[in-house]
Amino acid sequence: MRALVTGASRGIGRAVALRLGREAAEVAVHYRSHAEEARAVVEEVTHLGGSAFSVRADLARPDDVGRLADDLAARWDRLDALVHNAGEYPRVAFRDLTPAEFAACFQVHVFAAAELTRRLLPLLEAARPGRVVFVSSVLAFSGSRHGAHYAAAKAAVVGLARSLARELAPAVTVNAVAPGSIDTAILAGDTPALRAERERVIPLRRIGTPEEVAEVVAFLNSPRSSYMTGTTLHVNGGLRPD
Ligand code: NAD
Repeated sequence: MRALVTGASRGIGRAVALRLGREAAEVAVHYRSHAEEARAVVEEVTHLGGSAFSVRADLARPDDVGRLADDLAARWDRLDALVHNAGEYPRVAFRDLTPAEFAACFQVHVFAAAELTRRLLPLLEAARPGRVVFVSSVLAFSGSRHGAHYAAAKAAVVGLARSLARELAPAVTVNAVAPGSIDTAILAGDTPALRAERERVIPLRRIGTPEEVAEVVAFLNSPRSSYMTGTTLHVNGGLRPD
């Protein structure tokens, strides 16, 4: 399996790269600024029985998105798995949210993912089936108290996945995962009180791990999910998504 995982130097993306490495995948480990961490992921994937290389691109920059697609197309004639994971959760009160912040959020989570998919379509179609997985969020369904632009972008991702599932079938399957609270840098700013409050409202009473999300992403990238397209799998410890 040949897979591109965006934002794979840490967090959920790293866990996905390692999980695919365990299945002997060839993994393109995309990163923006953490070159050292990306190199470490490449080594770990290799150690687990896969092979990997790292590739840099700032998905906030449309030129970089095109270059990333061109780099992949120059190396590979087939792409089995494309995992759209990169992105931040910028917390901003709606009354302070600028149009530029709104646009920047959509650029990374939605526009970059759509354009990368579009450019890599010939490679995905060559895989027959190519598989695309978008990382959305429980906040696409519940809304966010301090990230309206983020929740809106993550909801757009679900609409995009459902649309591409229809339009690209049967050559390409397109699904999404919607994580709840997962223990990564995104939650690093939590106070102990906020973390305890998060855990209190999760029926399984704990924050999830990146590996628990990676397991579901790996499933959606495998023949084990061969009859699934256009779906969103919730990985949230039982949080009600609506
Ligand atoms: P993380 O901060 O550890 O990882 C995010 C990755 O995205 C990093 O590697 C970062 O460099 C990359 N990235 C961000 N902006 C980028 C850009 N402009 N160009 C290229 N790369 C960029 O956080 P994470 O929790 O692992 O997040 C992974 C995905 O999961 C994100 O899409 C996030 O929205 C989503 N998510 C996370 C949670 C959670 O609780 N952690 C919940 C729901 C959804």
